[in-house]
Amino acid sequence: MAQAPIFMIEDVDTATQHAATAIAEMAMREISPTPGNFCVWYNYLAGSVPELRRELDALLLSGKTISSSTIQDLFDKYFREPSAEERLQQTGDELHNTLADVIRQVTQAGLDANEFGKTLTKASGSLGTGRIDAGAMRDLVSELINATKLIGQKNQALEAQLQQSSGKIAALQTRLDAARRDALTDALTGIGNRKSFDLSIQFRAQQATEQRTDLCLVMIDIDHFKKFNDSFGHRVGDQVLKLVGSKLKQMVSGQDSAARYGGEEFAVLMPQTKMFDAVDRADKFRTGLGAHALKNRTTGQVYGAVTVSVGVARYRLGEQLETFVTRADQALYRAKNEGRNRVVAEAS
Ligand code: GH3
Ligand code: MG
Ligand code: MG
Repeated sequence: MAQAPIFMIEDVDTATQHAATAIAEMAMREISPTPGNFCVWYNYLAGSVPELRRELDALLLSGKTISSSTIQDLFDKYFREPSAEERLQQTGDELHNTLADVIRQVTQAGLDANEFGKTLTKASGSLGTGRIDAGAMRDLVSELINATKLIGQKNQALEAQLQQSSGKIAALQTRLDAARRDALTDALTGIGNRKSFDLSIQFRAQQATEQRTDLCLVMIDIDHFKKFNDSFGHRVGDQVLKLVGSKLKQMVSGQDSAARYGGEEFAVLMPQTKMFDAVDRADKFRTGLGAHALKNRTTGQVYGAVTVSVGVARYRLGEQLETFVTRADQALYRAKNEGRNRVVAEAS
């Protein structure tokens, strides 16, 4: 469903009044004033979501006890953004239902055509006897005209229905593609997320094994990232993550794929790439990223350079993926221990 606005713009007095009433009414019912519950009750009072207003009004009128969990359900229903996975599931279900409709329509059309065929056969049978008077002939013809009209109308209706269904399917297809893309994308940086990495590494390792080609994994961790958060705030931290993401996007080419592995750690898979090449490219990325001090364009405040430590490992054909990732992690750990801002290849 479409997401309702969480808060309407209200003047301070009205908003304060609604907030106070919401807290008081929740306290009366022993409902905890958690942010989610508060959001429901406040919007109920403000009337910003008419369906919520109606639903909660009906519950209150019914005289049933309203628990925190009822309010949480309302929060989920009216305010929680569905996750990418949930949207994928919903769209898939809708697509399934639309296809089931089409099948029903086409099956019905088949049945109607069958009925029409029977009418024609019957008419042709009566004519074939050769003993048919004018009255019966007139009835037969009018029956045929009616049956033909009916099937014509039904076919037209079917055509319109099918056109509508195919439009719906095309729209759902677009939504499905978008949901699938979102499910594999990290919202902050716009590169692949952990799930996309997990899928890529499986696919690439299998490919490398089958084709007996090289596959390198580059693990990247931002150095002293906490200091960006601690000194300049979480938003600056987020900007740093976005910058690293966009630089990684520029760095990858061809079959490579970059993903946010978690927190301030990134991973790049480089199929058909030799170790020395992977190390070389990782090092170019590192020096390029660290070359300039980051600063706020508006205030001129200098945040300093962003440096990264990098570990690189090469896939040993057929080995467990976990072992492969661990070797890249160990190389990264060494890069940190040896002073950060460097690329270290796994010990051979
Ligand atoms: P090291 O050089 O050893 O890697 O030090 P570090 O400070 O980078 O590493 P540490 O693991 O101590 O801290 C990582 C920090 O990353 C802690 C966490 O709050 C922050 N972080 C993780 N995800 C995000 C995010 O999405 N946004 C922001 N702003 N910070 C995040
Ligand atoms: Mg770090
Ligand atoms: Mg880390």
